[in-house]
Amino acid sequence: MAVIIDGKEIAKKVREDARRRTDALKARGISPCLAVVLVGENPASVSYVTGKEKALAEAGMEGRDIRLPAATGEAELLDLIAKLNGDPGVHGILVQLPLPSHINEDRVINAISPEKDVDGFHPVSVGNMVLGRPGFLPCTPHGIVYLLKEMGMKTAGAHAVILGRSNIVGKPLANLLIRRDVNATVTICHTGTPDFSVYTKQADILIAAAGKPGLVSAGMVKPGAAVIDVGVNRIPDASKKSGFILRGDVDYEAVEKIAGWITPVPGGVGPMTIAMLLRNVVEAAAASRT
Ligand code: NAD
Repeated sequence: MAVIIDGKEIAKKVREDARRRTDALKARGISPCLAVVLVGENPASVSYVTGKEKALAEAGMEGRDIRLPAATGEAELLDLIAKLNGDPGVHGILVQLPLPSHINEDRVINAISPEKDVDGFHPVSVGNMVLGRPGFLPCTPHGIVYLLKEMGMKTAGAHAVILGRSNIVGKPLANLLIRRDVNATVTICHTGTPDFSVYTKQADILIAAAGKPGLVSAGMVKPGAAVIDVGVNRIPDASKKSGFILRGDVDYEAVEKIAGWITPVPGGVGPMTIAMLLRNVVEAAAASRT
């Protein structure tokens, strides 16, 4: 039976640290503030934004909650971002993705000042991450690396296999895992990989970020491997008040029996994403002059 990686517990420590650093900044007259921009009412996005705002409040930070109708135009959104960039009371800007299809996400991400890019999605932040220079790290990949370290896992020389090549999870995670302080050897599988189980069976660390419920079965996992499930999939379930249950990309019940470590969904990677966001906001505030 695998050791269950308690992301909630590990995230709690990061959040407490963010709270302490926030208190110290406030004592110096700096009140960390994140502007959270949500366009439209995508139910998953509403739930993510609500979770982030709750976490900000618990850490003693200010959350500037900006909710815009789905019909908001791109120019209007860019104008808002320009104002937030110039607002010295705002230290971080988060635009919840995905945006409605009439808005170009790249243009919006590019418009956020890199000094306030606490999601780490701006090309300048991505470039700094790849080059190993200081800058904001994207929250989910950073949270995953933090989990591995916190669990005392031997990552140096380990073979890490990532399922998924997105800009927010797969690609940045691969970059962080090959850094010298982690020192893993990385394989990335994606929809163009004919049979990814050839690679996953060799993985000491397997990270599933495909967004496909139950994609990883027990037969695809090397016994004793660390299995990190990033997937968050809503499965309709009429017996639940919400009308759905959350499932990861991993067949948890089967894989738990053979893996060495495993993250549950929910309660694994998700809480780490929010914790690392809080950490980035504190750092943005600390680097600011107000
Ligand atoms: P995405 O759709 O942008 O990318 C998915 C990737 O998986 C693609 O690169 C694709 O090539 C690959 N893929 C899809 N099906 C595959 C298959 N059958 N075989 C091999 N590769 C396949 O998704 P994303 O934004 O990277 O998110 C992935 C999942 O992680 C989603 O479920 C998302 O909700 C979740 N997520 C969770 C957190 C968190 O904090 N827990 C954060 C971000 C994303």
